[in-house]
Amino acid sequence: MQQYDIQQLISDMTLEEKASLCSGLDFWHTKGIERLGVPSVTVTDGPHGLRKQREGQDNLGLFDSVPATCFPSAAGMACSWDTALLERVGEALGKECQAEDVAVLLGPGTNIKRSPLCGRNFEYFSEDPYLSSQLASSHIKGVQSQGVGTSLKHFAANNQEHRRMSTDARIDERTLREIYLASFETAVKEAEPWTVMCAYNKVNGEYASENETLLTDILREEWGYEGVVVSDWGAVNERVDALKAGLELEMPANNGIGDQKIINAVQEGTLSESTLDTAVERLLTMIFKAVENQKDTTSFDQEKHHQLAREVAQESMVLLKNENDILPLKKQANVAVIGAFAQQPRYQGGGSSHVNPTKLDNIYDELVKTADPQAAFSFAEGYTLKSDDIEPTRIEEAKKVAAQSDVTVVFAGLPDHYESEGYDRTHLHIPENQRVLIEAITEVQSHIVVVLLNGAPVEMPWLDKVQGVLEGYLGGQALGGAIADLLYGVANPSGKLAETFPETLSHNPSYLNFPGEGDTVDYKEGLFVGYRYYDTKDIKPLFPFGYGLSYTTFEYTNISLSTPEMHSTDELTVSVNIKNTGQQAGKEVVQLYVCDKESTVVRPKKELKAFDKVDLQPGEEKRVTLTLNQRSFAYYDEDLKDWVVESGDFDILVGSSSADIHLTEHVYVHGSKPEQTFTITRNTTIGDLLDHPVYASTMKQTLQDINKKSGMFAAMQDEEEASEMMAAMVKYMPLRGLVAFNSQHFDEQMLNALIDKLTGLEG
Ligand code: BGC
Repeated sequence: MQQYDIQQLISDMTLEEKASLCSGLDFWHTKGIERLGVPSVTVTDGPHGLRKQREGQDNLGLFDSVPATCFPSAAGMACSWDTALLERVGEALGKECQAEDVAVLLGPGTNIKRSPLCGRNFEYFSEDPYLSSQLASSHIKGVQSQGVGTSLKHFAANNQEHRRMSTDARIDERTLREIYLASFETAVKEAEPWTVMCAYNKVNGEYASENETLLTDILREEWGYEGVVVSDWGAVNERVDALKAGLELEMPANNGIGDQKIINAVQEGTLSESTLDTAVERLLTMIFKAVENQKDTTSFDQEKHHQLAREVAQESMVLLKNENDILPLKKQANVAVIGAFAQQPRYQGGGSSHVNPTKLDNIYDELVKTADPQAAFSFAEGYTLKSDDIEPTRIEEAKKVAAQSDVTVVFAGLPDHYESEGYDRTHLHIPENQRVLIEAITEVQSHIVVVLLNGAPVEMPWLDKVQGVLEGYLGGQALGGAIADLLYGVANPSGKLAETFPETLSHNPSYLNFPGEGDTVDYKEGLFVGYRYYDTKDIKPLFPFGYGLSYTTFEYTNISLSTPEMHSTDELTVSVNIKNTGQQAGKEVVQLYVCDKESTVVRPKKELKAFDKVDLQPGEEKRVTLTLNQRSFAYYDEDLKDWVVESGDFDILVGSSSADIHLTEHVYVHGSKPEQTFTITRNTTIGDLLDHPVYASTMKQTLQDINKKSGMFAAMQDEEEASEMMAAMVKYMPLRGLVAFNSQHFDEQMLNALIDKLTGLEG
């Protein structure tokens, strides 16, 4: 940076000034240092819209923030599987930040959806780390392209709201690396967020805010992160420990308490001033980057952003069921619209991400606008959003309206209090008054479409009795227009689930260990999160990961690999043809999963490693090429502390969901895993020696000799067969067992001689 000499500034700063920079001025600003020309900059939520508190309002700005575009929340956006679209959303968010003089937008959130119960899942992308990190990366690139920073959060393993500020997420290293950290890794490496926000919780015994393994060893040293680590609001436990672990900015303001602790620690010699200087350097770099990129814009095009929000909502909503092509609706149909949500939509989640929208669609009005002018519409509330109470009069009224229609569209889902930041759900039900309503309508109407508005999966006991289901998620301020476009076929649904919908909560892999006991939560399901579990265990979910219907059909043909055999350090390209074989333009998400056919470690049946969204006119065919690299085949080896690929065959599976694989090919990969070396001792197993190319023949010979002497298998005619049988029986026996079970024929001396001989072979 030329304009500002950061090193000079640091050397001009007093210890007090340096310490002061390491915490916020208030809730939403960093501190400035006037005498040195260091400005204060604004940070604010995030992630899917701007929540900038108006001057003089409540601290959190929860109830009065400046109007901003409310895009669909991450759970919905993720179902678009469209990285370019997320980048455009990011750009729009960046523009709104510039107009409001915001330097850093606090998002995106890329925690893994371990359990569908997590109250904040609506703010997160997926149960799959590859998809999640790709989407987070695009979001970040978009925002930052506008000269506005992001805060990738909540690092790490903040997968529940229950006791979120004290719980200890205990996760084995491989699972942490392959699932929970992987969801951050690509986004950090490729998109370089200006800030990373540490989580509230502990990870393996240490607060994320004080976790040197996470904040320094992995984030900075392994991933090369150069930005600022900011605490989640109030996540700092001991300020000095946090600074030492790699946390530069404590938010919000600490009233000087944390700053004083830093000063004392430097003066007492328990914190080196150079650690503080490094933190200050990172903070100044970020602050001046924000200042340099500040634009003089004071407004953004609200209508254009509303239209973008509508496009995103269209791409995000997922058509889950469409029996007998009940959808798209005929524009002249007589439609009954049922459900309070049609007039008072649930379009965003509660908590720090809550946006004050620039405007808000009324779904009912948008439906009427989209249908033919002469089409008849009727409406009944069916339930109240104020309680879960079943109100027979409302239900009777809804039944009457539904009975007189050609088709009934019921709006159902989760009211605000069902899911929010701060607490988790305890079940996957929609309110009882909504469930009873749907069941009641099935008594009088056989053409029913349910549109769901919710931030996370719900159980659908009524699924078999309705013909259509559109999962709308929390669709943002333009959800009404998007729903109308999708229901009437003005737009063709193309969303694909970014998470599994289980048949019932107890099928979820985390079920027995969520949300933990007291302040401990053990991630005992390990790697088997989401579809990795359902697939491997062969448990049929309600709707699988990657699933979503369209009004058109697609055909997958002609898979080819760039090579049938490769070294793991090479790239592999996989090409397939996708054809739109239906009557309407549509988009398909081509998904590529990798399956390790032979592995010495436990691996999920398949894992997503690439995807692409393709736009096709009726009859159009495109060749899609996806690229795989070393990481696509690797697992994290805890002993080697590295990602390794084992040599062997891998299946390349291409499909339209994790459960619908249309094409399969194979590749042989020469791996990166170093040959296992082991020291031969009395306790080395016979099987390991028989499997080893160097020791196998000596071991086999020894067994044959013992066999002959002992005559154990004398009854068997075939010597080879006898020796194979013996080998199978002694496979798991340590060498010392040869003495224990055959002391007349094989003694200690012979054992030592054998060990010496085998060891000699190694050299
Ligand atoms: C949330 C963060 C948010 C911050 C500031 C915290 O409670 O966990 O996601 O960015 O508050 O509002």
